[in-house]
Amino acid sequence: MSDDPTGARDAGYDDFLDAAEAGEAYYLSCPEGHGSLPPRTVCPDCGDPDLAEEPLPAAGEVETFTVAHVATPAFADDAPYVTAIARFGPVRLTGQLRGVDPDEAEAGLPVELAVEASETTGRRLLAFRPR
Ligand SMILES: [Zn+2]
Repeated sequence: MSDDPTGARDAGYDDFLDAAEAGEAYYLSCPEGHGSLPPRTVCPDCGDPDLAEEPLPAAGEVETFTVAHVATPAFADDAPYVTAIARFGPVRLTGQLRGVDPDEAEAGLPVELAVEASETTGRRLLAFRPR
């Protein structure tokens, strides 16, 4: 099911959100141990087509982040917000860091993945919450 009123659906991203929302987020692992996010048909690191779905680790860690005080129109009501890149096992995800004052965001912060709504558009987005 898409929550976009236009019916448009970003295949890979929405599928990933569906899985994450159900607590079944996963990544793709190749025989070399590289992790990547769906959709992929080959490993982006080594080109191996033998990809297996692995459960995404529940615990992640903020690697880097930026604080947006002035947002694009699509996120106007969310500002100020923190966009973070967090590492979960072998993969990195980009999402909004929530539940943390933007001034207190820091690299190394332990987080967990959540699927939440944009305050501006109501569309689903990946969020990170402190754990
Ligand atoms: Zn690989």
